[in-house]
Amino acid sequence: MKLSTRMSRLGTETAFEVLAKAKALEAQGREIVHLEIGEPDFDTPANIIDAAVEALRSGHTHYTAANGIPPLREAIAEEVSQTRDIPVHPDQVVVVPGGKPIMFFILLALCESGDEVIYPNPGFPIYESMINFVGATPVPIPLLMEKEFSFDLDDFRRLVTDRTRLIILNSPANPTGGVLSPDDLAQVAEIALARQIPVLADEIYSHILYDEAFASIATIPGMQDLTIILDGYSKTYAMTGWRMGYGVMPIELAQHITKLMVNSNSCTAAFSQMAGVEALKGPQDAVAEMVDAFRRRRDLIVDGLNDIPGFRCLLPKGAFYVFPNIEGAGKTSQELADYLLEEAGVALLAGTCFGAYGEGFLRLSYATSEANIAKALDLIKGSVARL
Ligand code: PLP
Repeated sequence: MKLSTRMSRLGTETAFEVLAKAKALEAQGREIVHLEIGEPDFDTPANIIDAAVEALRSGHTHYTAANGIPPLREAIAEEVSQTRDIPVHPDQVVVVPGGKPIMFFILLALCESGDEVIYPNPGFPIYESMINFVGATPVPIPLLMEKEFSFDLDDFRRLVTDRTRLIILNSPANPTGGVLSPDDLAQVAEIALARQIPVLADEIYSHILYDEAFASIATIPGMQDLTIILDGYSKTYAMTGWRMGYGVMPIELAQHITKLMVNSNSCTAAFSQMAGVEALKGPQDAVAEMVDAFRRRRDLIVDGLNDIPGFRCLLPKGAFYVFPNIEGAGKTSQELADYLLEEAGVALLAGTCFGAYGEGFLRLSYATSEANIAKALDLIKGSVARL
């Protein structure tokens, strides 16, 4: 079949390819430590599972409103209002199957050929993929290790043009674990407000923060009308397989995004939405426990990586990834990632899976047990010594 030309512009998420390669090695009898996939290794908290089972048994098995059931949109509006200190009306909320559809829909709704979109690089690979797919021009803003994986604001200002149609921010960030400071957010907001450029704020890791309070660009006066908040359940509640995410945006845009839902998914699964109400309204202890476990794992992996000759690793402030600089090991990111999978049996990602500015880095997800992390560190250290 002849594919549309736009399909040639669609990228992918390499993590899934590395996972497939690692699984193939396991099928041959090799033991592999998995540090490639970005999903919490915890089970979804029991109260959320119980709510879904109850929802299934009591008939929540049909279509719902395309933008989500009212009790869920109300609960999300309340949660976002509290965590970002802004008023949120439930009609500003569109519930979608996971965080990714918000990226897809916002780019479809706002951007076309000739438009430029500024996005973080290294960054979540779907940004660049979707910008290309909708025919817009990706404009990467380099994230810099010397700026704790924030960007240089002068670089940022230089990239903004009359054609800039959207700015994508991600804090806490995948793959770096970096967090944008309130000052960075204020400066980006100043530019966005002056030129009336919308901001897609990917805040999917908003609850996975170790030392500081969460800051959203939407909180800055004037920015609420220009911001689309993307958040969801995958990371905070260990619910990657449930496909539950949402966007919070001005009501008029929410109506267009709802139309995209009608045209694509009809709605998010009814029982997942019911579970989503329980996740927000029920006890939050499990979230705090997960973040505590991530903090211990983060400290273990950062110490271990900094003990490997040629590796330099910052202490990430959020999310569950480390992004060590490996230039001192004398191999490119991809060569080293391939070598570590083959030689050490450790599956991880080359920094370049997250864009060109990821060269010189690796990404390791520490959403796995301390025992696995300790084992991976031993294996990596031994293999790097044999380079
Ligand atoms: N945004 C970022 C920065 C992510 O890292 C991810 C998943 O890895 C997502 C969004 C998408 O999450 P979901 O699985 O809910 O679509």
